[in-house]
Amino acid sequence: MMISSTLELSNLPATMRQHLRAVSKGYLLTMTTDSTTKRCIACGLEKPISEFYMEKTSTGNKPYPRCKPCHIIKVNSRPLNRVRTDKPLVASEATAIKFLNRNGIFTASGKLSSYKYLDAVAWGCVRIEIKTSHKREGRFDFRFSYQQKNKRLQADIIILQCFHNIKTTYHIFPANHPAFYENGALKSVSYSLRGQSNDHGLTTEIMNAHENAFHYIEEARQNIIRQLLAR
Ligand SMILES: [Zn+2]
Repeated sequence: MMISSTLELSNLPATMRQHLRAVSKGYLLTMTTDSTTKRCIACGLEKPISEFYMEKTSTGNKPYPRCKPCHIIKVNSRPLNRVRTDKPLVASEATAIKFLNRNGIFTASGKLSSYKYLDAVAWGCVRIEIKTSHKREGRFDFRFSYQQKNKRLQADIIILQCFHNIKTTYHIFPANHPAFYENGALKSVSYSLRGQSNDHGLTTEIMNAHENAFHYIEEARQNIIRQLLAR
């Protein structure tokens, strides 16, 4: 007499069917007692099932292929997250970060901080937005993203990095400097070397006054510390 195995299975109670499926998949050990042993694929030793961690599967618990000590060795030797958090996303940011460090201001890529969107962080707390421009037709243009314009700029300091033909200059501003705002909203700015002024113009006076103005970073740091201590 031939009885289809599927037909036979479907006639069985659910718990029995589950058990049979487990057996057919080699999970029989999960249904047995501690007296059952299993060979570890790493050390090759035959060990009691209690010496193996259990893995939850849809059909019940199943022992890991490695015994507990071998499993721990494997987990601990896994490589950590390979994403490099110490490297800035953009080369120009790396240049600016190097510049600040050369001038005695400990600065790291923003990715190292809890603010992943930040360009850079000085002294572990001062949030820095770096805007870069190459000289084009005698002027530098610095644009803020749509997001930055619509939300508040999440930074304490704005650094304008100007790539001239042979040198790079850095202009350091507090993030709330009026030159960056119009009716309370952040705006893109530009700086013309010919001294032409327009609505978005940063004057030569402003740019010169803020070139290498490192004290703004120190003031921002002290403000943050003062606020922390006042809590
Ligand atoms: Zn082992």
